[in-house]
Amino acid sequence: MNETMTTGEAPGTRTVALVSVSIDLGAGRRGVDMGPSALRIAGVDGAVRALGHEVVEAGTVHAPEVEMLEEGETRTRYLAEIVDVCTDAHALVNGVLEIGCFPLILGGDHSLSIGTVSAVARHHRERGEAIGLVWVDAHTDMNTPETTTSGNVHGMPLAVLVGRGAPELLEVGGVAGCVDPERVSVLGARRIDPLERDAVKESGVRVFTMSELDERGTAACVNEALDRAMEDTAGFVLSFDLDAVDPLVAPGVGTSSVGGITYREAHLVCEKAADSGSLLALELVELNPVLDEGNRTARVGVGLIESALGKTIL
Ligand code: MG
Ligand code: MG
Repeated sequence: MNETMTTGEAPGTRTVALVSVSIDLGAGRRGVDMGPSALRIAGVDGAVRALGHEVVEAGTVHAPEVEMLEEGETRTRYLAEIVDVCTDAHALVNGVLEIGCFPLILGGDHSLSIGTVSAVARHHRERGEAIGLVWVDAHTDMNTPETTTSGNVHGMPLAVLVGRGAPELLEVGGVAGCVDPERVSVLGARRIDPLERDAVKESGVRVFTMSELDERGTAACVNEALDRAMEDTAGFVLSFDLDAVDPLVAPGVGTSSVGGITYREAHLVCEKAADSGSLLALELVELNPVLDEGNRTARVGVGLIESALGKTIL
């Protein structure tokens, strides 16, 4: 485990700070703003404590109610409000890192990563260090206002994090292009918009599609993604969009897509992230309780959090 996170604590344990970001403005439908609540109902706090970690509440960032807002520019819907939420999330995560805690970010739609991942990057940049990023997702989230067909900002965060997109989003936290695309991988992609494909190919981000995971085996691809994220970095952020998991296992997500990774493959990603000892922050996003079946996707999410924070089978 990361030495800086374990000072004064039992080996392998950390003080985990829960950062909740209650936002669905970046998504095409309502509901993912309730993701943090659903994860709490599913017992995230107790599950993390049971692994021996301390848990502290860092706070919740609330997005305004969508019915109260003007949609704004159609190619970046609710841009101003999303910038505000990301800026607040950035500050929360930065504060958590400053006091030596491990950020566990509960979302919320994936636009929130513009604030959270940039905060981890900034924290390490100020110490002369780079970070890597492992983005587990059915989508590549690399649209820009020019390529988007929906105007939903949750399809844009990875582009922003590697330096492309709306200037207002790039300016969040003052660290535009905060992650080197050579240190970024997407795992589980299977739905990439036509115009987005060119941007992905030009970006330098490594995309492990479902086809490649099938062909080569998930373990080999995850190992490669982790190696890439850890090369000459302080460690990496694991940004886990629950829509990467097959909807048969995780039906309660904003933008579900058939043909996803299995329950065990999802755990394998998280177990390998834990084993690496280089996980700097974990986020779980796009959980939509409105579309869930009896909160089972939230329970899947809590299980994944446990694996990423060190739970092992044996
Ligand atoms: Mg996503
Ligand atoms: Mg997705």
